[in-house]
Amino acid sequence: MAPTTRQKELGRGERVLPGLWRLRLPLPWPGVPHCNAWAIASGSGVVLVDTGMHEPGSLAQLERAMDQVNLRLEHVRLLACTHAHSDHWGQAAPIIERAGCELWMHPNHVHATAHAHDPEAALERRLEVGRQSGVPPAALAEYAELAKRFPSGVAKVVEPDHALVDGVRIETDLGEWVAYETPGHAPSHVCLYQPERRILISGDHVLGRISLFYDYGYTDDPVGEFLGALDKVDVHDARLALSGHGKPFVDVHGHIEGNRALVAERLEAVLGAVRTEAKTALEILPAVYDQPVDVRNATWFLSETLSYLRHLQRQERVSPQPDGDVERWLAN
Ligand SMILES: [Zn+2]
Ligand SMILES: [Zn+2]
Repeated sequence: MAPTTRQKELGRGERVLPGLWRLRLPLPWPGVPHCNAWAIASGSGVVLVDTGMHEPGSLAQLERAMDQVNLRLEHVRLLACTHAHSDHWGQAAPIIERAGCELWMHPNHVHATAHAHDPEAALERRLEVGRQSGVPPAALAEYAELAKRFPSGVAKVVEPDHALVDGVRIETDLGEWVAYETPGHAPSHVCLYQPERRILISGDHVLGRISLFYDYGYTDDPVGEFLGALDKVDVHDARLALSGHGKPFVDVHGHIEGNRALVAERLEAVLGAVRTEAKTALEILPAVYDQPVDVRNATWFLSETLSYLRHLQRQERVSPQPDGDVERWLAN
C-alpha cells in the first residue's frame, strides 16, 4: 500500500473483437499500474463488466477510454462486477447513476462493503491479525498511519440489484455469458463465460501474470475455494481470457496449471518452515517470498500465508500453538 502518487497512465480503449472492447484504466498502486473493464455490445448499448477504482478524476478516465471506442457511459445497459474489490466495483455508484442501469454482483460482498461502511473497524481487524501474526507494535503503528491516508477507492457503497451467482446469464450481441462463482481471490468473485466463443472474463481469478491474493478472514478456507474454482473454470477449455489486469491471453489451461503449481509450491514452503519449530506467520514469510517484507506488502503476504496455514490446518498437517496474544504454527 502506498499513498496516491501522480497518475502516469491515462484511460485507454481498444477493440478486442467486433462488439467487445477493453477499457484500460489507471490505478495508483505501485506494481499494478492499471486494471481493465470490458464493454460488450448489447442491442443499442453495452454491458459493462467492472468499473475501475474511484479516485479524483477516475470517472473521466473511464469516459476517456470509452470515448476512444465511441462509447459513452449513457450506453451502459447493465453493469456486472466480477468481484467487490475497489478496482472492479469502486466506481459502480457513479456509473449506475449516470447510466440508469442495474448492478449485478455476487451477494458475498461483505468483505468490501463492511470495510467501506466502517473503515476504522476494518483497519482494527487487520491490526489484530497483524498482532496475532507476530508483527511488532512499531510496524503496526506505521502501517495504521499509512492505511489511514490510503483512499478506499470506493465512491459509495452500492449493493447489487441482482445476485450474480452460478448459472445467471447475461445476454449480449456476442451471445450469452454464464456466471460461475469462483471464490478464493475474494468471496464475491465470479467469472463470466461465453461457451460458443470460449471466452472467459476471468476477473482476478486467473491473470496473465500469475499473482495470488486471498481475501483472508471471511471464509474458512480461501485456498481450498480458490483451487476448487480453478477446476471449475478449467473444464470449459476457454481459448481466450479477458482478465482484470493485463492483456487478453490465450492458453488459459496453462495459466490455470501455473496457479495450481504456485499454490502447491507455497503450501510446501509454509509446511517446510514449521516442520521442526513453531513459528508465527510473520516468521514464516521469508520461506515463502523472495522479496523482503515491508509495511507495504506485509498485509498481502500475511493474508496469503495465513490462508495457506488454515488450508494446511484443515488437512491436519499443521496446528496453531496459541502463545498469549501471538499465534504460532507447527507441523503435525
Ligand atoms: Zn481483486
Ligand atoms: Zn483487481
